Amino acid sequence: MRTVLRGARWPGDVAVRDGEIEAVGSVPEEPGDEVIRCDGDLVTAGLINTHHHLFQWMTRGRCAGCDLFGWLVELYPVWGRLDVEDVRAAALVGLGELALTGCTTAADHHYLVPRGDDSVFDAIAHAARTIGIRLHLARGSMDLGESRGGLPPDHVVEDVDAILASTESVIERHHDGERVVVTVAPCSPFSVSPELMRESAALARRHGLRLHTHLAETLDEERDTLERFGRRPVDLLDDLGWIAGDVWMAHGIHFDDAEVARLGSAGTGVAHCPSSNARLGVGMCRVVDLEAAGSPVGLGVDGAASNEVGGLQPELRQSLYTARQRAMRADVFMPPDALRLATEGGARCLGRDDIGRLEPGCRADLVVWPGADLADVPDPLAGLVLGPDRRARHVLVEGAHVVRDGELVGADRRGLRRELAERARRLWP
Ligand SMILES: [Zn+2]
Repeated sequence: MRTVLRGARWPGDVAVRDGEIEAVGSVPEEPGDEVIRCDGDLVTAGLINTHHHLFQWMTRGRCAGCDLFGWLVELYPVWGRLDVEDVRAAALVGLGELALTGCTTAADHHYLVPRGDDSVFDAIAHAARTIGIRLHLARGSMDLGESRGGLPPDHVVEDVDAILASTESVIERHHDGERVVVTVAPCSPFSVSPELMRESAALARRHGLRLHTHLAETLDEERDTLERFGRRPVDLLDDLGWIAGDVWMAHGIHFDDAEVARLGSAGTGVAHCPSSNARLGVGMCRVVDLEAAGSPVGLGVDGAASNEVGGLQPELRQSLYTARQRAMRADVFMPPDALRLATEGGARCLGRDDIGRLEPGCRADLVVWPGADLADVPDPLAGLVLGPDRRARHVLVEGAHVVRDGELVGADRRGLRRELAERARRLWP
C-alpha cells in the first residue's frame, strides 16, 4: 500500500511505498492510498545526528562553569558509576528527544565501558529499536588512564586487546548496515594510545566500517598533543592513518588553512556541535571553509552534559548563528545550508547515500513539521531554521511512524523521564 503525505506547504505531496520515497511534489490520487494530511506543514528529510553521548543524559546540569578538561575530570568518576540500566534509561530518553525533534538517524559515541561490561552496547541498540530510529553505534574506547599520561582515571579505561575483542563482538551482535550500523571509535587523542588508534583503524577497515573520534575540540588538546608527541592533532592523526575518507571526527575546530585543505582533499568529515561548543567555550568550527574544501560536515547535538537541550532541530539555528559569528558576516550560511548540514551533510559523514535527501529512491525517513505559526513567513524553510524551536508533528522511518501527533509511538516519554530522574538522583553529590 502507498502512503501519501498530502498538502504540505513545502514541498507539496510526498508519496511513500515499501519504505522508499516514490514521488515528491504533486502526487495524483490512487485508490487505496493511505493519506496523512499535512496542510500548512513542512516536510523535510529526517534529520541526522552525527555525534552524541546518550549516557550523558544521566549527568545534566553539572560543571556549568568548567572548560572541557575540567568538565571531563569532574564527570569521568560519575560516569564510571553508571550501570547498564542507567545507560539504557539515558539512551531511551535521549533517542526519544531526538525523534521528537525530527531526527531519524543518530550516531552515539559510547566510550565508557566500566568493568568491561560491553552489554551497554546491547542496551543502546535495544533502545534505538524501541524508539524506532536508525542508530550508528560507535563502539568508543579509552585505554590511556592517568597513570600513563592520559586524562581519565585508570578505573574507567580498558586495555587494547579487550577493546578490540569487544568491538569485534559488538559488530557481530549488532551491525546490519541499515537500522544499526557499527562504527569503531577510540575517544580522543588525550584518552587513547597511538596503538589503539592504529589497531582500531585496521579493524574497521577489515570490516568495511567507518571510524569516528574527537579531534581539535580545544586549544588545551592542541597543547597536549604538541607536548606529548611534538605533533599538532591533524599531523598526529595523519601519522596514524586517520586522515581519510572513511573517518568523521567530532568538533574539528582548531585547524589552520593547510589542515582544512588536507581534510577536504581526503574527504574526512566533521560533526559540528555548535551548542556544545558554545557551552564549553571552545571556539567555532570553520564549517564554511571545510565544506568549500570538500569535507562532509554534519550536525551533532553532542551529549546532554554539554548540550542540555538534547534536541536536533534547535541546532539548525545555532549552526547558522555560529557560522555568521565566526565570519562576522550575515550573508554567509543561509537557512538551506543549515538544513543541508542536518540532512545530506550528516548522511555523507556517516557514509550513507540512501538517507538525508527528499528524493525518489531514498529511504522514506521523513519529518512533518507543524507550520501554522509560520503562516506569516514568506519562506517556510527560513522559518524552520530561524524561527521558534519546534517539535515534529510526525516522524517516519522507512515509511513507518516513529512519532505520531507529537508523541513517540514506541515508548511513553513521560515514564522514561521519570525513570531516568530516579536513576540520576542517586548519583547526586
Ligand atoms: Zn563528544
